[in-house]
Parts: sequence; C-alpha cells; structure tokens
Amino acid sequence: MIAFISDLHSNTEALGVVLEEIERLGVDRIICLGDVIGYGPEPRETLLKVIDICEFSLLGNHEQGCMFYASDFNPKARQAIDWTRDQLNRRDCPREENAAFWNFLDSMKETHREDDFLLAHGSPRDPVKEYLVPKDSADEAKMKGCFDLFQDARLCFVGHSHVPGVYQEGAFYRSPTEVDNVYEPGSNRAIINVGSVGQPRDGDTRSCFATYDGDAVRFHRLDYDHQATAAKIRAIPELPDYLADRLAQGR
Ligand code: ZN
Repeated sequence: MIAFISDLHSNTEALGVVLEEIERLGVDRIICLGDVIGYGPEPRETLLKVIDICEFSLLGNHEQGCMFYASDFNPKARQAIDWTRDQLNRRDCPREENAAFWNFLDSMKETHREDDFLLAHGSPRDPVKEYLVPKDSADEAKMKGCFDLFQDARLCFVGHSHVPGVYQEGAFYRSPTEVDNVYEPGSNRAIINVGSVGQPRDGDTRSCFATYDGDAVRFHRLDYDHQATAAKIRAIPELPDYLADRLAQGR
C-alpha cells in the first residue's frame, strides 16, 4: 500500500497525526506530491521529516517559488515564501542541514510515472502550477487535455488545490464524502486529488491524505491541533495572520 501525502505546508502538528495513522495502517511506501513548505511556521522541521520518511517528493509551486522566484504569487503567499527561504538559509543552524534542504528541493521532479499511475503536484498538463478544482470536471477540453497525458495508465494522483476528490474520465467530480472515502476505479480512469495535509480548503479543517493498494483509493481525514499551528503562525511577524485564521475554517 502506498500513502500519498501533499501540501504539508510546514505544518508539523498535521504531519505528525498523519504519520501516526500511516504507521498504524502498515503502509509500504510514502510519497509526497509537493508543497512540503510555504504558508506554515515550521519549514525546517517539516522538510527534515519528509526527507527522512518519504521515498521522494515531487516539486510543488512553493518549492519552485522558494528556489527561483515568487513574483507570480499573491502578496500573502509571497511573504510566506520569502520568510521560508530565509529559514532554510539560517546562519544559526548547521550549514550541512541547510545544504541538505536545498539539495532535496533541487532533486524534486515535476512528474513521476509507474505502470499504473502518473503523479504530479498540480495537473498532468502543467505539473507544478495548474489547479484542478471541482468545477473543472465540466470543462471538457481541460479534462481531455489532462487525461490524454496518461493514456496508458489508469490513475493520476495530484494535490495543489487542497480539495480532495475523484475526477473520473467523462464523469463529474465526486468528493470523498460522496464516495464514502473509498473509490474503486475498476476499468475506469480517474484523476485523484489527495487533498492537503497541512492546509485543507474544502471546508473541513481535518488533515487529509490518500492511500492506494492497487485496487482501491481511500481518503483519510484526521483531526489535528490546528490551534497550536495557528498560534505558531501568529507568533511569527513575517507570516500574515490570515494564514492562521484559515486553518480554523478549512479554507
Ligand atoms: Zn499547496
């Protein structure tokens, strides 16, 4: 069984709870779909954990923004990215650790392909930046463009929008609740958004991830202490309070 985690966003409270559950489930592989950092208060701790436990992480737009430029982010996200970059360069921390962070970011691929599935942070068309949100299921050109890019595989797992769910080829989007947290593709092809560990945006404050055992995709939701994360964000002047407020709203 594989656990797909995405959009951790420097949230160690959420990641801790998710990893406990992953351990309980007896997962064989843990793969991260990107956005380990950005928005949240503990980028170094989150990166250390991911480097330790994940087979690999794909490149998210926040890693890309951190490494190269962040000019196309909105001001609040950019402020957090600039602060995150400074944290990864801290002079009061071991130089080897800083170097390990930047090497890890630099090693991140945009996509990953195995027999049965394609992985991307955003979408097959634009792996790092394109969002897939529920209303896109009615956009035939966009959906066809995405499905065409993994024709010989059954599934594609993505993150980025922080809204989990199933986009079945030629059908409507279905939320985890609508599929009772289990989706068995059978002979259907689908794009699965695994949701966000550290900053859910589907109106549910609980941390989200997905597992896949070759037959079924399962969505997992877990309560975590979002007030503790919010308090850490508020204690950092460079991080806008809005980033703390949204954790309590799941938006
Ligand atoms: Zn994200």
